[in-house]
Amino acid sequence: MYRLIEVLARNYEVIGPVVRDGAVVYDRISGADELPRGVTDDQEAGRYRLKPRGDAAFFGYASSPQSWKKFLHPAQVKLFEAEQKDGVFRVLEPSRERRRFAFIGVRACDLAAIRIQDRVLLEGSFGDPIYQARREQVFIVAVECTQSAPTCFCASMGTGPQVRDAGVDIRLTEIVNAGEHWFLAQAATDRGSEVLAQLEGDPARDEDLRAAAGRVEAAARAQTRAIDNRGIRDLLFHHFEDPRWDDVAQRCLSCANCTMVCPTCFCTTIEDSSDLSGAHAERWRLWDSCFSMNFSYIHGGSVRASGKARYRQWMTHKLGSWFDQFGSSGCVGCGRCIAWCPVGIDITEEVEAIRGSTHGKTNA
Ligand code: SF4
Ligand code: SF4
Repeated sequence: MYRLIEVLARNYEVIGPVVRDGAVVYDRISGADELPRGVTDDQEAGRYRLKPRGDAAFFGYASSPQSWKKFLHPAQVKLFEAEQKDGVFRVLEPSRERRRFAFIGVRACDLAAIRIQDRVLLEGSFGDPIYQARREQVFIVAVECTQSAPTCFCASMGTGPQVRDAGVDIRLTEIVNAGEHWFLAQAATDRGSEVLAQLEGDPARDEDLRAAAGRVEAAARAQTRAIDNRGIRDLLFHHFEDPRWDDVAQRCLSCANCTMVCPTCFCTTIEDSSDLSGAHAERWRLWDSCFSMNFSYIHGGSVRASGKARYRQWMTHKLGSWFDQFGSSGCVGCGRCIAWCPVGIDITEEVEAIRGSTHGKTNA
C-alpha cells in the first residue's frame, strides 16, 4: 500500500480514506500512514460510530458519510464572477484546472454510483464540463468489501460487494487473517498494469484467488438488508396515494441528509451574491435537495409543499422514474441514507411497507 501510493503520487493527486471527526471521509493523502488503519464502523439506522478492529487492516470498514462525488461533482463551484469598473461591466470565468485524481479505496457500490453519475452528467443531452474535467483522467484503485455493515444492501441491487472491472484500473482485495496480511491486486487497464509492475509482490496462486473471492462472497451473504426490485417502478407509481407516505412524513424532518450523503444524487441550485458597493458579483452552483421547499419553487409557490410529497418524490425518483430517465435504478445500496438519517428512516423498510400495503393501489 505504501509503495502503491508513492508510485501514484508521481502523476496524480492521490485521494483516499482518512479519519476526521470520528468518521471515515475522503481527502488528499501523501502516504499510507494516513489511511484509517485498524478501525471499523458500527452502523445502523441513524447510527455511525468508529471503533478499533484489533488488527492492522487498511480498509476494514464499509461505506462512509462521504462519497467520491465530493471530488467529481463538488458541493460548491464558482461559475463566474462579474466586476464593474469605470462604468464597464466585465464577466470573468474562473480558470478550471484539470485535476488528475487517483482514488484509492473505491468500493463496488461507489463505483456503480460513479457510473450512474457519468450517465447523468456526461452522457445525456447536456454534459457538465465541470464534471468532465475532473472525471476524465481519474485513476481508480477499487477495494472489494470483505465485510458488510448492517446498513449495506448492495448485493440485492446487483452493484457489489464484488468489484467488476469496468471503469477500474486496479482491483484490490485485502486479506487479514491471524498472522497474515496481504492484498490480491489485479490490473484491469494498461495503466493499471504499468503501476502494478512497479510494486513488489508474488504472482497470485489459485488458492489466493479463491480465498479473496470467498471473503467477498461471505460479505454478500452477511447482508441483512435488501430491496426486492421486482416491478419496483410500477409498484411505487401505483401506490402514489398510499397512507405509508403519511406515516413516513410524520418521521421525516426534511433535513436533506439522505440526499447529501447519497453518491448518486446530483441536483444543484444556483446562488448569486453581490458586495455592498455593487461593483462585484458572483454566481455559484451549490448542491441542492428535493427535500428543500425552494427546490420545486415555481411561480406561486413550491410544487411539493408537504414533507410527504418530498419524501415520495425522492424515493419514487430514486427507485422508479430513474429507470425512465437513465435506464437504471438510482440506488446502489450503499446504505448511507439509512445510517445518516437522524431519525433512522430506512429506504429498504419503506419499500417493504409499500410492497406489503393493500392501500392506494390503482390498476396498472
Ligand atoms: S438511496 Fe441511500 S442506499 Fe441508495 S445509493 Fe443513495 S444513499 Fe445509498
Ligand atoms: S428521510 Fe431522514 S435524512 Fe432524509 S430528509 Fe427525512 S429525516 Fe432527513
